[in-house]
Amino acid sequence: MSIFRSAVFSTTVANLNDLPTDSLREVAFAGRSNAGKSSAINTLANHTRLAFVSKTPGRTQHLNFFTIEDGKYFVDLPGYGFAKAPEEIRAQWEGLLAPYLRYRLPLVGLVLIMDSRHPLTELDLQMLEWFAQTGKPIHVLLSKADKLTRQEQAVALREVGAVLSRIGERCTLQLFSSLKRSGVEEAEAVLGSWLEMTPKKDALPPTGLRTEKVARAKNRKAMGWSARSAGKKTDNNKSPRQRDEPGAKRLT
Ligand code: GDP
Repeated sequence: MSIFRSAVFSTTVANLNDLPTDSLREVAFAGRSNAGKSSAINTLANHTRLAFVSKTPGRTQHLNFFTIEDGKYFVDLPGYGFAKAPEEIRAQWEGLLAPYLRYRLPLVGLVLIMDSRHPLTELDLQMLEWFAQTGKPIHVLLSKADKLTRQEQAVALREVGAVLSRIGERCTLQLFSSLKRSGVEEAEAVLGSWLEMTPKKDALPPTGLRTEKVARAKNRKAMGWSARSAGKKTDNNKSPRQRDEPGAKRLT
């Protein structure tokens, strides 16, 4: 069961002065409009409509905070890519998003959602390169993986992995499908560690059912875990526990 299942909508922030003051750790979600960001947040929280709050009028251009547990948040950032006036984009970026992403102390990492069929758009690259400079980790979800064949999934992992390895050493990636709920445990492992959350006791399966370990191994296999990232020498063939980013492919 999802470790983020207690997620509830908390607040919409249009102004830096209104950021929650009780936050200890928060993870931001970014991505091009239609990449599957709301679906991914809903899937991770095991909630069908949670992140659709962010799509309601008056909230689409703001930061939407979801409480995961006391002092811990998911932050849904505005989707980018839709034609908007350049001055509107600049005002939003300079007034809210850039200072939030650069200076927000409780922000522990960025999840970037990219449609696995059309990854690395120019705006995705700009976001990746810009955020990598903060020194905080980035975890890429290659979404809608159910639309790719196994072979195409492996190619996407390899190609996007090669680019990420050039962008920064704290970038990880995985395949994800909200439709099939695949990649959920892998994402939970990464985000749970960023947020310093321990799996809830009742999340463990009853004796006799498949163990978490088996489930994770199965999931990794299904999601192309064994595909190595291109280019540099990596430690990807180690288990997640042997690396400092659990459950994810590390690219350097
Ligand atoms: P957002 O604009 O980034 O928040 O994207 P949404 O989560 O609203 O998803 C955009 C569209 O992609 C919707 O029609 C979703 O049903 C679809 N979608 C999202 N995730 C998946 C997925 O894992 N698989 C498939 N096949 N479609 C998805």
